[in-house]
Amino acid sequence: MAVVRKKKRSAARAVKKATSQARRGRAAKGRPTRKVAKKVAAKGGRATRYVYFFGAGSADGRADMKNTLGGKGANLAEMAGLGLPVPPGFTISTDVCAYYYDHGRQYPPALRADVAKHLAKIEAAVGKRFGDRTNPLLVSVRSGARASMPGMMDTVLNLGLTPDTVQGLISASGNARFAWDSYRRFVQMYGDVVLGLKPEGKEQDPFEELLEKKKHARGVENDTDLSADDLRELADEFKALIRQRLGIEFPNDPHEQLWGAIGAVFGSWNNARAITYRKMYGIPDDWGTAVNVQAMVFGNLGDDCATGVAFTRDPATGAHIFYGDFLRNAQGEDVVAGIRTPQQLTRHASQEWATAQGVPEAERAARYPSLEESMPQCFAQLERTAKRLEKHYRDMQDLEFTIERGRLWMLQTRNGKRTAAAAVKIAVDMVSERLIDRDTAIQRVEPASIDQLLHPGIDPNAPKERLARGVPASPGAAAGEVVFSADEAADAVAAGRTVILVRVETSPEDIHGMNVAAGILTARGGQASHAAVVARQMGKCCVAGASELDIRYDPGVILVGSHSVKRGDWITLDGSTGEVFLGRVPMVASHGQSAEFRTLMGWTDRVRRLKIRCNADKPEEAELGRAFGAEGIGLCRTEHMFFEPERIGAVREMILARDLAGRERALAKLLPIQRGDFLGIFRAMDGLPVNIRLLDPPLHEFLPHGDEEIAELAKTIGVSATELVARRDALFEINPMLGMRGCRLGIVYPEIYLMQVRAIMEAASQLVREGVKVIPEIMIPLVAHVHELEILRAQADALCKEILAAAEVKVPYTIGTMIEVPRAALTADEIAQSAAFFSFGTNDLTQMAMGLSRDDAAKFLPQYVDRGVLPADPFATLDQVGVGELMRIAVAKGRRSHPGLKIGICGEHGGDPASIVFCHEIGLDYVSCSPYRVPIARLAAAQAALAR
Ligand code: PEP
Ligand code: MG
Repeated sequence: MAVVRKKKRSAARAVKKATSQARRGRAAKGRPTRKVAKKVAAKGGRATRYVYFFGAGSADGRADMKNTLGGKGANLAEMAGLGLPVPPGFTISTDVCAYYYDHGRQYPPALRADVAKHLAKIEAAVGKRFGDRTNPLLVSVRSGARASMPGMMDTVLNLGLTPDTVQGLISASGNARFAWDSYRRFVQMYGDVVLGLKPEGKEQDPFEELLEKKKHARGVENDTDLSADDLRELADEFKALIRQRLGIEFPNDPHEQLWGAIGAVFGSWNNARAITYRKMYGIPDDWGTAVNVQAMVFGNLGDDCATGVAFTRDPATGAHIFYGDFLRNAQGEDVVAGIRTPQQLTRHASQEWATAQGVPEAERAARYPSLEESMPQCFAQLERTAKRLEKHYRDMQDLEFTIERGRLWMLQTRNGKRTAAAAVKIAVDMVSERLIDRDTAIQRVEPASIDQLLHPGIDPNAPKERLARGVPASPGAAAGEVVFSADEAADAVAAGRTVILVRVETSPEDIHGMNVAAGILTARGGQASHAAVVARQMGKCCVAGASELDIRYDPGVILVGSHSVKRGDWITLDGSTGEVFLGRVPMVASHGQSAEFRTLMGWTDRVRRLKIRCNADKPEEAELGRAFGAEGIGLCRTEHMFFEPERIGAVREMILARDLAGRERALAKLLPIQRGDFLGIFRAMDGLPVNIRLLDPPLHEFLPHGDEEIAELAKTIGVSATELVARRDALFEINPMLGMRGCRLGIVYPEIYLMQVRAIMEAASQLVREGVKVIPEIMIPLVAHVHELEILRAQADALCKEILAAAEVKVPYTIGTMIEVPRAALTADEIAQSAAFFSFGTNDLTQMAMGLSRDDAAKFLPQYVDRGVLPADPFATLDQVGVGELMRIAVAKGRRSHPGLKIGICGEHGGDPASIVFCHEIGLDYVSCSPYRVPIARLAAAQAALAR
């Protein structure tokens, strides 16, 4: 009994200790601090399991264990379990990552024994021993988080090589050059990644400098021309460099190397680029990474070896073709890094490539044969495996493979990243192929990504001069000034310029530049290069591998034939054809939507409960929104019409009028103009509701500032410039967003709102007579107290009735309000009794609920988000906990006193997928967003309904 109690107490202590450590960990940025504490305690101080074996036809893990094993580890386990040829290895779980950060970079006590046990299992499976002088086992040590973060964290290959074991590798492989090359690569990689010789972000790699020097000294051009002796010397020079710079000896003990690499991989969860990447893709900091330790297989042992990547469908277009690149006699990293331009997997793709490059067929077949031609058996096995994996996962797969001496090994499979166009096509095709159902297809497409499909393309009729052609890596088109580094791109964009980032090849260090550039152009690499993969995911136009370009970072110029394009010159990219043009080529609106896109959108409409409207102030915008599937207008901001040059004069006259008579004279000029606007919008939305908001902004926003404008206006309204300036200054407000705006204008100057109501109802009456179905919703902004709404509603209603009676027509109009002041949300029960509808103005509601100025918050908001003070910009993604709570209250109270009250949202959040899900959950009737975001909203709303 006593023993049991003692155990319980120590378990409780363990929970307390681990929890307080977890809490401390949570305060530090990026620490994975999951519920490891409880797990540890539950097992009397021993977590469930830390290490999982895979290979030799079996596995401890499965594909659905990504939370524990990371994506790579879970899929390696799944492939091994399916009996596919996977080099044996083990995965150290993400729980260890959490423990590592919670315990000051210490490992769970049992881990060393677990790793040793599993290393022995690899040794048994491959018949080699780690650290052996005759036939050494070498391993790779790779990261692998729950969500794929390509290239963001660290990897070490060829681990286990020492001056002793390299002799074993020479005798086992019979290839001294290969062995010394593996050793110098290992020293370089370990020096970079584990010992930290190459500081992050630094351009010149000191190891590469030594490599260049060696090639120069030997008078050779390529790495492959260096001899075994050269490479051995180079490895020594690398080690000397480490000694000199870091004051440490390169480790010669394979076990020390292994633990160094494991620590580096866990540590790389928190490197700067991984943190940036997580922020960009909303990956939680506390997920952590797993570490995969796996027996090395070699694609660089000779000409019967190769390494490559493959996709089961084309990731750019979604076409159902087997697709990919490979390099003969190379290591895997060479393909991904885009250092050599790879060859195609299939004969067909190889021939297409040769035609585009102008390479004759005989030369192609001799020098650049496809895998299908050069290694037909391995190709057939790879294609069979790919088909099997796609069917197994029921999704397009992205595979990595290595062929070692004619034997195929699978190194990775994962659901492939794809462009939005490909995502839509693959999802719809897979439904026809009966691989997935429609609901799954809807869930397969990321709503925000379909923005790509609606982007502009190059005007086919515009004159243009082609500079070069590369691989069409990510579709869309972009024009911008040439910059040559990520930092340059970031600075230029911060200064308001538009840039194309031009690099020989990109690396993960360039991510911040790629993120802000309008497009990306590289001279090296193919569809699977870093630039291609990352740009595709960002939905950014990219042309990769335009090999005619001679890019010189210093002095900043691209040479192509007789052309030279300097830093700051404009170029235009067509990511759909791979063409690069000189100058700024005109663009046209979206390429139009594919049949698959329309099919998918049709499916979403059957599933979603939320209606989707658009925010539109002009007939053209209304038409565009309708073409994208909008089911009405959720917000027509009447003041946007006031800024047109031919109207602003009358608006200013109205504002500056000394008395009612003067104001009415100016309003009389505005009435026909407004009526004309509404005629156009109502016509475009025939049969659909149109929500028109009466004037909202503070009046000073319309007033002139420059001397010339002031003089001109003074003349028009017949006052002196000095008097006009005095009147303008009298209208100045210290806090205009909380000043004379919204319904306060309507209360103080009823004639303004009445002019607008007249324009709406006269336009509606005219159109009803013409047979157009008009459904106007008149919306009063910035209501804080029910009295404001009661007064304005009564005035507007009386005028509507008067106009309709005179015109002898019926128009089904309604009058409602925005909910954008916290008090309105809190008193929604009172307000709902006077309102036919509510529409959440979440821009103002966020501003007022959080006390965050919409105009000034940009000074600190980015820092807030960067430092995790706020999880996201609350003006882009709804603050569901705070602002959302006000919405919940308003919905509940509003519907309690007015059952069936129609409620929508028209703030910017109406087009944000995460906020749309929230709107669905709290029972809104519709969301309204900009026309281009209507398809995104349709899809997000359908996904929200399915999630339920
Ligand atoms: C809002 O506040 O959310 C809104 C739609 O109105 P505006 O952005 O015009 O203030
Ligand atoms: Mg507002």
